[in-house]
Amino acid sequence: MANVHRRIIATGLKCTVCLLGLLLIAPPAFSRPKGKRGRASTRKHKSKRARPARAGKRPSSAKASKQARIYHCSRKGETPTDIARIYGVSVASLDGSSSTIRRLLEDNKRRSALRKKHRRRARKWPPRKLRPNQRIRVFSPKRAPIERDAVLRLSRGASLHWVAKRWHTSVPLLRCLNGLPSSVHTVRSKQHRPRRKRPAGIAYHDWLWVRLPTPAHTARALGGPSTGRLVHGERLPEAPHLIVRTPRNAFGTHHTITQILRATGRVVRAIANTPSIVVGDLSKRGGGLLPPHKSHQNGLDADIGYYHVVKVRKDRFTRATARNLDRRRSWAFIRALLDGHETQYIFVGTPIQKLLYQHIMKNRRQFERWCLRWMATRQRRGAKKTRKRGSAATRCMETVMEYPRSRGSTQAIVRHARSHINHLHVRFFPRHGKRHYGDPP
Ligand SMILES: [Zn+2]
Repeated sequence: MANVHRRIIATGLKCTVCLLGLLLIAPPAFSRPKGKRGRASTRKHKSKRARPARAGKRPSSAKASKQARIYHCSRKGETPTDIARIYGVSVASLDGSSSTIRRLLEDNKRRSALRKKHRRRARKWPPRKLRPNQRIRVFSPKRAPIERDAVLRLSRGASLHWVAKRWHTSVPLLRCLNGLPSSVHTVRSKQHRPRRKRPAGIAYHDWLWVRLPTPAHTARALGGPSTGRLVHGERLPEAPHLIVRTPRNAFGTHHTITQILRATGRVVRAIANTPSIVVGDLSKRGGGLLPPHKSHQNGLDADIGYYHVVKVRKDRFTRATARNLDRRRSWAFIRALLDGHETQYIFVGTPIQKLLYQHIMKNRRQFERWCLRWMATRQRRGAKKTRKRGSAATRCMETVMEYPRSRGSTQAIVRHARSHINHLHVRFFPRHGKRHYGDPP
């Protein structure tokens, strides 16, 4: 009896100790609601604002957590089937992941029952479609959202109206892409977040998603890079994360522009405080000879600077050296270009390749894992298989970069070309016509 009594006292003590411990360990958890309660007037508003971000962080089921969570912003007249097709999922899974779709499908079921019942007046209940800019959550095995979405880095602040005007888009679409409620009118960088009072109508993000305007015509690259021309070229838009040196020579195919924006956007998202990158010549409007270049004639070539660890001039390329090359960001950029699976060649001077190679070899395991995944995707897309000698990782490395082998010895994508010490030159596959890996330049 005494034993039991002692045990009860012990557990009781333990509990009080635990509770005390909890109180000591977790004061923020207790104090946070108090702070909110203090500002009762904004509470409702705040909880509304916080919901999309928080809901997004936790996928509902274990199955969903394996897949990428994407927010799709609907276009006018889109149906659940259209969205399911874009992301390679079933309509049933959309029904599970998005309440908007669930409501729409339920409504359409009711409407179809009414149509069957009153056949003569069936026109009265057409199936409903989505309104524009509705935010729909999708769990998809495809990682990227729609290709034409790019990321815009905020150095300070911008009104949504200004961003919409500059990027030829609309404020409701910006709100949808970034999960902002209708009460937000301005977005500021997190660096400028005031400590005490949060003014109404302002949200804090370091970057904003924007959708690039879709051109009316599809650009076409005609002929070869050194003899061709460009029809319906599109100009690379100026964005805060890239500096276009000569806008009149920054025309490319729709596809080239998308890939450049996508890759630069990826670096900005992956690594904080990334400076803007200098973009040199692409092609003239209409293409054709663009001295001093031999190529750059059909909108598939682009000269882009490297990232540097020191501040450099933004009106020209800066020679990259072991001292000033930002290996991490430069490699991240090349990797993002390769991940697009649309790059035929990336010309990088051998000394720079050597520096990048040394950087890669520091995290060799991580690189090999990425490379094998990349190789598998490449082969699924119709690339020819490489020589069978060596391990899979070695073969993969050979396909990616020429260094440490001698110049011209491999079919690598990243390869040497003269005078590419201060910038890299990327050539994309033409979208129309032949598109095979390993085609001669
Ligand atoms: Zn070039």
